[in-house]
This record gives sequence, C-alpha cells and structure tokens, in this order.
Amino acid sequence: MQPIIKLHDGNLMPQLGLGVWQASIEETAFAVSQALEIGYRSIDTAAIYQNEEGVGAALQSASIPRNELFITTKLWNDDQHDPQAALENSLKKLRLDYVDLYLIHWPKPAQDQYVDAWRSLIKMRQQGLVKSIGVCNFNIPHLQRLLEETSVAPVINQIELHPLLQQRQLHAWNATHHIITESWSPLAQGGEGVFDQALIKKLAEKYNKSPAQIVLRWHLDSGLIAIPKSVTAARIRENFDVFDFKLDKDELSEIAKLDIGKRLGPNPDLL
Ligand code: NDP
Repeated sequence: MQPIIKLHDGNLMPQLGLGVWQASIEETAFAVSQALEIGYRSIDTAAIYQNEEGVGAALQSASIPRNELFITTKLWNDDQHDPQAALENSLKKLRLDYVDLYLIHWPKPAQDQYVDAWRSLIKMRQQGLVKSIGVCNFNIPHLQRLLEETSVAPVINQIELHPLLQQRQLHAWNATHHIITESWSPLAQGGEGVFDQALIKKLAEKYNKSPAQIVLRWHLDSGLIAIPKSVTAARIRENFDVFDFKLDKDELSEIAKLDIGKRLGPNPDLL
C-alpha cells in the first residue's frame, strides 16, 4: 500500500508521485498513463514544463475518479502578478476544475511579488480552485515573511533534496512549522554520484533492490514526499516498487553522511 501524508490543512497526499519535468507533451501523456496503471495517484507538473496538456490527456483516458487523484501544478515566476489567470490557464490544459496542490515555483526575491502572489493563492483556495497551497524553493527567510505578513503557512515546501544535498536545516525548520518537505530531483537527476556509492550498492544488494529504490526508500523513511521523474515504463514501475521494505535507523544515519551540499539546480536566493 502506498503511504499517504496528512497535510496541515487536513488534506491527504500520496508520499510518492511522478514528476514530469523535461518531458514533452507526448512523453508526459505516456508516462502518466503508465504511472496511473501501476498505481501512482500523484502527478507533479508545472506551467513552465509546457506539458500540462499531456497530463490532462492521460487523466482523461484513465477515467480514475477525480477524488482519488492528487494533481500538482505550479505558478511560474513571470505570472506572480496574476496567479488567478495563470491557474485558470493551467486548469484548462489539465482539463480539471481544480488542482489538489498549487505551488509558487520560485520565490524570486529580486522581483518581490511572492507575498502578494501568496495572498492570491489563499483566495483561490477559498474559492475552491485549489485544495491546498504551497511553495517551492523557499528558504527560511522567504517562509518567515509569508508567515509574518499573511499568517498562513504553506502545506508543502518543495525543494531540491537528494543524498548529495540533504537540506537538513530547512527540512527541520519546515517540520517545526508543520510544513511537509517535498524532494525535487529525488534521484539526483539520474543518480550520478549516488547510485555508484558503495553504501547505496551495499544496501541494494542487502534488500535485493536497485540503487534508485534504495534512494527513494530513504526519502520515504525520512518523512519526505518524493516525485521521481521517468518516461521509461520499466523505471516508472521500479520507482513505485518500494513499499515492501524499510531502511533502519543506522542505515539512514549512514546515508546522511553522503551529504556534500551539492546543488544541481539554482540557488533560490540568486535566481
Ligand atoms: P529525478 O531525480 O527524478 O531524476 C530523473 C532522471 O532519472 C531522468 O533522467 C530519468 O530517466 C532517470 N531515472 C528515473 N528513474 C530511474 C531509475 N529507477 N534508475 C535510473 N534512472 C532513473 O530528477 P528531476 O529533476 O526530474 O526531479 C523530479 C521532479 O521534481 C521533476 O520531474 C519535477 O516534477 C520536480 N522538479 C521541481 C522543481 C522545482 O523547482 N519545483 C525543479 C526540478 C524538478 P528517464 O526519464 O529517461 O527514465
């Protein structure tokens, strides 16, 4: 059974989902269809990925009851001045009346619009256009500003997080404020520098799993939500086959030592 996380607004979110960054509309439609067939119910897209139509097409042909799905999309930086128009555009492409989670994609501090954008998200939640609202790539000062100026905490902070960049301080701060941390690039974008680590290989052998499955299990056992991306049917299946084992405390502590603070994406303060 796939694990489910309760968000601080009471809504439920699968702990493992499918990411679709850098997939074309056709690849996305294929990957999402495969994933839904295997049992995934959570899909992570964004307006800037330009593949929301692919998600929408796959959802339509799968005919899974809407309340069993958990669909996330994101507000792009250039649209922070008008989140409602951006969301309506996304909903059209997704062929949905609402999304389960809408995220501010980057704080873009130099633009200084994220607090007003957050106020719009709060309104859109009240109108029922989104069930839950959150952010991506927010550092502690950005989150503190949201809390001080609106008193509404995001349910999720989706950040770059994998064994080479574990973000323990930010994860702990999120937890103190009941914000769930969601890992983007959970496989470090294909596992370079991770899958070939002796420790990961040793654990893969012990549990008879692949290195990717060990890394995904580490996310789940660390209380993180993970959204590995794949457009390859066998990998989509492999990444979902992680619910029949658990890493123990010592193994989690060993993996903690792999953190070298290596970012694969931009630093949110500088973007
Ligand atoms: P991931 O860490 O999920 O890695 C994806 C890469 O790993 C792809 O090249 C994929 O190949 C490969 N892969 C997938 N499964 C396996 C496996 N079992 N064994 C070996 N290789 C594998 O990287 P992403 O950067 O895509 O991150 C995941 C998701 O996070 C994104 O798709 C997006 O939804 C979200 N994200 C959010 C960001 C934000 O700013 N909020 C930024 C970046 C990502 P293939 O597809 O060819 O199978």
